[in-house]
Amino acid sequence: MIIIMNSDVSDAQIEAVEKRLKAMGLGSNVSRGVERTVIGAIGDESKVDKEALQALPGVEDVIRVMKPYKIVARSYHKEDTVIDIKGIKLGGKQIQIIGGPCSVETQSQMDEAAKWVAQAGCRLMRGGAFKPRTSPYTFQGTGVEGLEMFRKAASKYNLPIVTELMDVRMLDTFLEHDVDVIQIGTRNMQNFDLLKEVGRTHKPVILKRGMSATISEWLMAAEYIAAGGNHNIIFCERGVRSFETYYRNMLDVTAVPVLKKETHLPVIIDPSHAGGKAWMVPSLARAAIAAGADGLLVEMHPTPCEAWCDADQALNPQELIDLMAQLKGIAQVLGREI
Ligand code: PEP
Ligand code: MN
Repeated sequence: MIIIMNSDVSDAQIEAVEKRLKAMGLGSNVSRGVERTVIGAIGDESKVDKEALQALPGVEDVIRVMKPYKIVARSYHKEDTVIDIKGIKLGGKQIQIIGGPCSVETQSQMDEAAKWVAQAGCRLMRGGAFKPRTSPYTFQGTGVEGLEMFRKAASKYNLPIVTELMDVRMLDTFLEHDVDVIQIGTRNMQNFDLLKEVGRTHKPVILKRGMSATISEWLMAAEYIAAGGNHNIIFCERGVRSFETYYRNMLDVTAVPVLKKETHLPVIIDPSHAGGKAWMVPSLARAAIAAGADGLLVEMHPTPCEAWCDADQALNPQELIDLMAQLKGIAQVLGREI
């Protein structure tokens, strides 16, 4: 950590900074230049309160040298982390397309959806039993009954299930139902208590990017999960809020190479919530795989126009089958497989 002092800094102010660093357990090295005095803090800066130093008289700026995230950082683990989900590998050579409806509706809808997900060649299935809806008057999900319907439908095809956890009080129920991958939605990316609790489990977690979150905030949210001991984290870019109103969210494809540089953990993309329209999904999905994503989270409904949630962005079964064929070609060029 480097502390840059004001040009008219006094000796007493420099001493006060050194004293504060000492209280924080850090040493200091004062470098007096012609224009500026700079203090280098020596020691573990991760526990240092940057704002407290910034507020001291005579301090102009405080610059961190180290990244604030540790376990999720590429420097912590040089190789790509491959997450094992009931024998299915995410983050390695094989790209995983997670298909399924936005929400769990009925047993027959889930049975039908599971059949098509398997037929399309997807190895994992998605479906929300607890839905984060903007309006409290719209369908909120089928809840625990939905988890049961999901499990039953997916088991027939040996598809591990991915479903969203919104409330920490439901975690035990998720564990009892042996949910294979816990999804943390965009609205909960910074629900730190929820992150801490899933961090205590060993379940793989898909951490969606907050709709207005910076990459650094997203990495720090993942660090919350990792700090609890759970390193099975998958980042999911699902589009961010922007000035544009034509589509639901703006897909930040740039996040893929950036995360690949910053973290060893897998990165997937949700083209459905980004575009918000089924017709946009294939192009966004192709871009995601071409950019190096390790997988996709795609909404598919047996009959999209009858979907209880996000009908407009759901692919129909044939569209999912066609998309899989296109993605296979792109994966091959990249030396990967689907
Ligand atoms: C979802 O995947 O169904 C969902 C609600 O996504 P997001 O949290 O990205 O809006
Ligand atoms: Mn949805």
